[in-house]
Amino acid sequence: MSAIYDNVQQVRSIISRQAAATGRNPGEITLVAVTKTVAPELVQEALAAGVTDIGENKVQEALSKSTCLGSGFNWHLIGHLQTNKVKAAVQLFALIHSVDSLKLIEAIDREAGWIGKQQQILIEINISGEESKYGCTPADALDMIRAASLKSNVHVAGLMTMAPFTADKDRIQAVFRGLRELKDTIAGYHLPNIEMKHLSMGMSHDFEIAIAEGATLVRIGTAIFGKR
Ligand SMILES: *Cc1c(COP(=O)(O)O)cnc(C)c1O
Repeated sequence: MSAIYDNVQQVRSIISRQAAATGRNPGEITLVAVTKTVAPELVQEALAAGVTDIGENKVQEALSKSTCLGSGFNWHLIGHLQTNKVKAAVQLFALIHSVDSLKLIEAIDREAGWIGKQQQILIEINISGEESKYGCTPADALDMIRAASLKSNVHVAGLMTMAPFTADKDRIQAVFRGLRELKDTIAGYHLPNIEMKHLSMGMSHDFEIAIAEGATLVRIGTAIFGKR
């Protein structure tokens, strides 16, 4: 068996172990294999190992891979989305994790409407407040979600964040906990067409912390495909 096959099994077993250790049901945690810069042949190996969900940062890269990878799994957009790529994004992705502006929600609603799709989205939140990060502020999230609630061709399914690049586990944990608390707060408003079901958080170096804080989608590249 290939290294990728082994890595997928390894990541899966860590997910199960950490879910059990933190009182979670492993079945509610989906592994999204992040395939940016990874050649389609290697992505195929991950799919053969049972991966059901693939995450890409760039619409164009995902589109070119999609022609050789076929179907039978879900595409996730995890990187920043520009409005001029929305049309293509809506055609390909089952879930767009990186929605962080009202302008983007409006563009997605329009394009999804044209093709008769209800596009599943997550709102990306910049919990850590780092300047370098995309995502809206926790303070702006509720207004955006209220606006999204009124759009018939988008469906908000939860929130996404990225932790800061640091070895400080407490800081990482505080960010993931902050996202979970924001999710609970927003869920308390019971807005129509808003489902606070997913927390997309955790990458190769911090997904165990994310699972402890309630992640339902972990986005893992390096631990499966090696260093980019
Ligand atoms: C690249 C990327 C990941 C995966 O990171 P790894 O450290 O390779 O696991 C997850 N989320 C986003 C948004 C990314 O850009």
